[in-house]
Amino acid sequence: MSSAVTPQTLELQNYIGGSWQRSSASEYSSVTNPATAEVLARTPLSTAADVDAAVQAAAAAFPAWRRTPPGERIQYLFKLKNLLEEHLDELAKIITVENGKTFPEAKAELRRGIENVEVACGIPMMMQGFNLEDVTPGVDETMIRQPLGVVAAITPFNFPAMIPFWFLPYAIACGNTFVLKTSERVPLTMIRAYELLEKTGLPKGVANLVNGGRAVVDALCDHPQVRAISFVGSTPVAKHVYMRAAASGKRMQCQGGAKNHVIVLPDADMDLAKQIISDSAFGCAGQRCLAVSVAVTIGEAQKSFRDAIADAAAAIRIGSGLDASVQMGPVISKESKKRIESLVATGVQEGARPLVDGRNAKVAGHEEGNFLKPTVLDGLSATSSLAHTEIFGPVLSLIHANSMDEAFEFLRRSPYGNQASLFTGSGAAARRFRYEAPAGNIGINIGVAAPMAYFPFSGWKDSFFGILHGQGRDAVEFYTESKVVIERWSRQETRKF
Ligand code: NAD
Repeated sequence: MSSAVTPQTLELQNYIGGSWQRSSASEYSSVTNPATAEVLARTPLSTAADVDAAVQAAAAAFPAWRRTPPGERIQYLFKLKNLLEEHLDELAKIITVENGKTFPEAKAELRRGIENVEVACGIPMMMQGFNLEDVTPGVDETMIRQPLGVVAAITPFNFPAMIPFWFLPYAIACGNTFVLKTSERVPLTMIRAYELLEKTGLPKGVANLVNGGRAVVDALCDHPQVRAISFVGSTPVAKHVYMRAAASGKRMQCQGGAKNHVIVLPDADMDLAKQIISDSAFGCAGQRCLAVSVAVTIGEAQKSFRDAIADAAAAIRIGSGLDASVQMGPVISKESKKRIESLVATGVQEGARPLVDGRNAKVAGHEEGNFLKPTVLDGLSATSSLAHTEIFGPVLSLIHANSMDEAFEFLRRSPYGNQASLFTGSGAAARRFRYEAPAGNIGINIGVAAPMAYFPFSGWKDSFFGILHGQGRDAVEFYTESKVVIERWSRQETRKF
């Protein structure tokens, strides 16, 4: 058992100033395996005092870290990348056990996390500014990028590894020091990742970890020495964090919830559409912010797609994510399962017909697990409440439209704008979609349009609050302040040499 966990009590430790420390919490939240209900650990709900200790450690580490040349800073990230590769299976198993997703899904998530570590290794190039000589005769102007200081990230339960790595590598590569608060429901993956980070020899205080919930979030928002916060989670909390942290003048990027649409045109390759949309809607048990939640069929696509997707959904094998034959694991908690089942009931009350009904699912040998089977609701009305409510579970609703115009009208009414996809064989339809779709991540014959680490993760509307997104160049801008220097030197002085 590592020093990050107290063996007798399974209590998790915070990582502050380079050492694992007991939280001052008096309350705890259980980390539970969603497939078995086994209690894996106890997350301390750390206090504002713990947050202050982490921020002070980060602030103390900042002056030396910002003076460390970027080319040296990234050496720790190269080491981290190698350690993450070496421990890929071990980390993926932790993700599966605490989050529920299947082992291949957990490995795929880690790959996307590692990709961000790799991209941040390009900081010596990406962090460069620009300059121009003779903005007026003999006067030169230069823009340089400097780190902000102490920055923090707050992350959700559905990607225990990938989402923290949207932020940590860029933040520290740019010369900031960092405080992470993971979801209290899935803290174990990043605890193990921080143990690996420790092995890189990263100077003490550069990366810190505080376990907890709401009190930690609010303390980070209010702390005067925290310069910027990256948040990912549900829209109500994203809005809360955005407003609370803005009140103390922080720089913010807050990614919120989603209700993603796919439009299926009659000329689409239906076999491809069925498979990819099924993977998008039901992969990770629908607990992905880029999961397709509503398919809008146009014209004759209605019947062909409906029959195909119902067959695909019904064929999905559910069970423990560690079982190699399983395609879909459980949802995160009993409350989530209950909420998803009740939203399906709302859809049915609102006139939808369950083509495949995944409620009340049971898996033999895992009676305590939070299992649902995929659900497909046909004929949901575009004006129903469910049409615009995030379900965050393995439920796909089908809506029919007579034209692209009608489908766009429906998409425009959605409060969310994380992702929109189109399935078609027509380049002209694809171009129109790319041009008009009201969302930040667009897929053409793609089910999960997750930007690679070298592109921004571009949510719109209630799916994102801020200007600069996570990943790639946006991340570098977010984690640095631009400074402009205008210089003039006397001509007489220069003639001396
Ligand atoms: P959540 O909003 O419940 O929690 C996110 C974080 O906020 C956690 O660290 C949690 O401890 C903290 N938190 C929760 N309630 C809080 C409160 N009242 N005050 C302050 N902090 C609070 O989200 P979740 O259930 O962990 O994750 C699922 C949600 O995240 C979904 O809505 C999903 O769409 C969204 N998500 C969005 C993206 C994206 O890129 N836009 C990516 C992944 C997940």
